[in-house]
Amino acid sequence: MNSKLVSKIFNAALLVLTNILFIQCVSPDSNMKIKEGEIPSFGAADWSKKMAKVQPVAINNIQVAGYLGKRIDRNLESLMLGLKSPIPKVFEAAAQGVEPPEYRLAADSDLYKWLEGACYVFMRTGNEKLKKEIDRITDLIIEVQDEDGYINAQKNQKQRWDPKVKHDLYIAGHLYEAAVAHFRATKETRLLEAASRWADYQIREYDNKNEYFTTTALREHSEYELGLLRLYRATGKEDYLKFSQTLTKELCSVEGPTIQQVKAGGGQHAVRVGYLLAGMADLYLESGRDDLIEHLEGLWDYINTTSTYATGAVGSHGENYSILPYDLPHERKDHDSRHLAETCASVAHILFTWRMHAIDPQSKYFDAIEKTLYNHYLGAIALDGKGSFYYNPMRMVGDLSKKSDHGFVPINARCMLPEVNGTSCCMTNCWRFMGALPEYLYSFDDKGVFVNLYSSSKINQSLKDGRRIGLSVETEYPFDGRVEVVFTGETATAFSLRLRIPAWCKTAAVKWPGQNRKTVESGKYLRIDRQWKSGDKVELQFDMPIRMIEPNSMVKADMGKVVFARGPLVYCLESEDVSFPVERAMVVNMKPEEVTERVVAHWYPDLLEGIHKLKVPGLVDEEEVDLILIPWFVRANRSDSAQWTIHLHQEGRIK
Ligand SMILES: [Zn+2]
Repeated sequence: MNSKLVSKIFNAALLVLTNILFIQCVSPDSNMKIKEGEIPSFGAADWSKKMAKVQPVAINNIQVAGYLGKRIDRNLESLMLGLKSPIPKVFEAAAQGVEPPEYRLAADSDLYKWLEGACYVFMRTGNEKLKKEIDRITDLIIEVQDEDGYINAQKNQKQRWDPKVKHDLYIAGHLYEAAVAHFRATKETRLLEAASRWADYQIREYDNKNEYFTTTALREHSEYELGLLRLYRATGKEDYLKFSQTLTKELCSVEGPTIQQVKAGGGQHAVRVGYLLAGMADLYLESGRDDLIEHLEGLWDYINTTSTYATGAVGSHGENYSILPYDLPHERKDHDSRHLAETCASVAHILFTWRMHAIDPQSKYFDAIEKTLYNHYLGAIALDGKGSFYYNPMRMVGDLSKKSDHGFVPINARCMLPEVNGTSCCMTNCWRFMGALPEYLYSFDDKGVFVNLYSSSKINQSLKDGRRIGLSVETEYPFDGRVEVVFTGETATAFSLRLRIPAWCKTAAVKWPGQNRKTVESGKYLRIDRQWKSGDKVELQFDMPIRMIEPNSMVKADMGKVVFARGPLVYCLESEDVSFPVERAMVVNMKPEEVTERVVAHWYPDLLEGIHKLKVPGLVDEEEVDLILIPWFVRANRSDSAQWTIHLHQEGRIK
């Protein structure tokens, strides 16, 4: 796509968005409409059904095992350990009226994100110990709330609506999301009511022309708009829908840096862009304007094509998108940290992508989520779940002694709980995203079920007309491409089963009762319409040959280098496996079609909980060596001083 066309699309998108949001005001209604008997069982995926083509299989209707289940299960212990970190201390001090701990940016939001994640985990596990902590944290938040609804536990923040901090609305957005999750998990309304008091106060301040809204709010951190939409759906108070639309409209129309946020990044903060676009997609699901979705899909395609790393990460210029397309450096040398690919940026982009799937369930959306989930996101988190990286550069080599990962030293080790980074947005986003992850695996519509992500799991879901769909999936994915999907319903039922055939898979085969083994096209959902009876089995085989991915000629940093991948996982060379500096390694000259012959994968069941290592023929200072690669998402789990690189120079390639 040439730059003029891109610019035209984004300007058109901006104009359309501004007009839509201006027209789509609704009449205010201040009466909360909570009906406890009607509380649905879903967690994070509470978008409007008005325009959604699919709904997620809700958290209470799914059991996740397999690899994803193992990682999801560790979230509970991680959350409990988080309570020993500085995160709750700011509220504890405020509630007791004692000296606040050291000031930390947007620290209130960290506890709200803890609570949101904890509520999803409680929905799934019913863990009583966790519930006691949820109750205690909820009490603390309500205790700290001022009479007029305002909440700020950081009593050492200089003033309300602090224009220097610029996070008042962002923090509120996270409380709204936590309050909605709390309501769904506990059926209690007290935190939802506290969140409503705060939202009502903010709307009053806006109506009273509080200058924060004219000077600072539009340069704030997006999240508020999305949180308000969720609060609207939980409470039925249309004021919140209206206010969310008003702020989104202003974010899209104001002159200044934020105008760039809708231009697919355009040098802007990647987390803010992700939350803003997720909010806009959510607003489409409420309002249903087709011209809005046209532009959102264009923005998504642009980000995915021009601004996403091999790991699915976004945010290549510090915490921002680059102003230029295809500007994807593997590390930053001009900074005291490796400072790119923030964990939160990928979570925010997944939130946007998930809503795009709800709007139009094309397989490209879950191809992208899978890539980011397995590589960037799970790779950011320690294998035991008890720590995370803030930045996730593709390459970590050389003298790292004076570098930090957002204040945490050493840079090439994760900050482990109960310690957290100076700003702890990433660890807390890991908690809430991991809590919500079960709802990403399956979706359904009136015709049947979509399988989006493969991990051993079971679902039991009713369709609109009452048909009940029971499915059981068995697989060793992401390490093995064999997947069995069994219909477990007691009554024979006709429905449509759609199975995502990943785009990375060049040879996929399938068979089911009455259908001999056949190959199927990848990068699509395979649709099987039939009458299913109990025990009917679909067998999928996604071949996972080792792939050598050649450089994207548009990306300067990629030139002369290749990346190895197997299935959805990208691999790296880590210093733990070789006796030479990883940056001196070079892959021998070979073509992608020779890789099957020359590169070997071997399964190590006891290494890093079970991984394949790849043995790649390489050179170091012209001497032949074996380059031993491991999946990038398990890097930095054997040492606090490991070095690694995903992209490897290849002999004979032009740099
Ligand atoms: Zn973060």
